[in-house]
Amino acid sequence: MPELPEVETIARDLRPRLVGVAIRAVRVPKPDILRGVRSAALARSLAGRRIATVSRRAKHLVIALDDGRRLVIQPRMTGSLRVLEATEHPDRYAALTVRLGTGRRLVYRDVRRLGTVHLLSPAAWERYTARLGPEPLAPGFTAARLAAALAGGRLAVKKALMDQRRLAGVGNIYANEALWAAGIDPSRLAGTVAPAETRRLHRALLDVLRRSIRGRGTTVRDYRTGTGGRGTFQRRLNVYGRAHRPCRRCGRRIVLTHAVDARATYFCPGCQR
Ligand SMILES: [Zn+2]
Repeated sequence: MPELPEVETIARDLRPRLVGVAIRAVRVPKPDILRGVRSAALARSLAGRRIATVSRRAKHLVIALDDGRRLVIQPRMTGSLRVLEATEHPDRYAALTVRLGTGRRLVYRDVRRLGTVHLLSPAAWERYTARLGPEPLAPGFTAARLAAALAGGRLAVKKALMDQRRLAGVGNIYANEALWAAGIDPSRLAGTVAPAETRRLHRALLDVLRRSIRGRGTTVRDYRTGTGGRGTFQRRLNVYGRAHRPCRRCGRRIVLTHAVDARATYFCPGCQR
């Protein structure tokens, strides 16, 4: 599922094709992706508006309109976003299509349709974003902020990292990778992570997120960039997807378990304490 680096990549790819562009018309072939708005109301609200900004919050793509409303798309599992040229046509998995003043079309495509689309007023957006934790790549996100996000955690440190109310944008892949890089056992209670370990985890987390963005994200299965390509960071993963293979730091075999949080947890029993 697309996490922070993947949605950031999509936002960067879409931004130059969308900002300042007018919306002509909207179609919703698969209205079950909509949350809190019906197709007809969405189409009426968007038609004639201009796109002001394209950004990311946590794992959500945020398209702000010139009237202050926001189209918020979370491409869970099989969702992807692309701007098609006038000569290209959306396929049968297109869930939402936005015809643009440039003659192009923004298409949200989702095979399994587990993704969601919200249209939020400025006040509804404030409530939405307030429920999400801090952005790890924001300038003020220090090791102390990470410590605060993990504090009081009587839950596994991996689960705490992935809790979107504590910290935004980190999912299963980057939680596994950051904990390996910091040498921390994912099953430890968040409250037992010492200050020196939190500083290591902070460095490891920011480093893996930044490197993945440079690599245009991780394509394990379905993720595609905003231009339809695959990410490259899957080649740089140190633990995720590497069960039974030797650890790149100590040589012990990587273990896969579902005992931490029912998700796939990969760790090295040799060098993660
Ligand atoms: Zn190791």
